[in-house]
Amino acid sequence: MVLKVSNCLKCGSSDLKSPRHIRTRGVTSSVTADLNIVTCNKCRFTEFYELSDEESEPIKKKATLIFIFAAVIPTLIGIAVPIWFFIRIWG
Ligand SMILES: [Zn+2]
Repeated sequence: MVLKVSNCLKCGSSDLKSPRHIRTRGVTSSVTADLNIVTCNKCRFTEFYELSDEESEPIKKKATLIFIFAAVIPTLIGIAVPIWFFIRIWG
């Protein structure tokens, strides 16, 4: 389902930016929310839309992939490099 926003709720302008996806997190909780935000080009009024499950599913998969690249691979390199040095020095 594609988010359809026709007019600004505040000023009625149809000059809206296309929806941008943001992820937000509560200050005290670990709960995250995936939202689409739509900003009016005229009055800067911004609306928030919660993503439906089908919309957030590919994002969660992407987030997992990013996690692998951002956390797992550096960890593996962090293990592999000392081993490589060890082999170079003692081998
Ligand atoms: Zn507006």
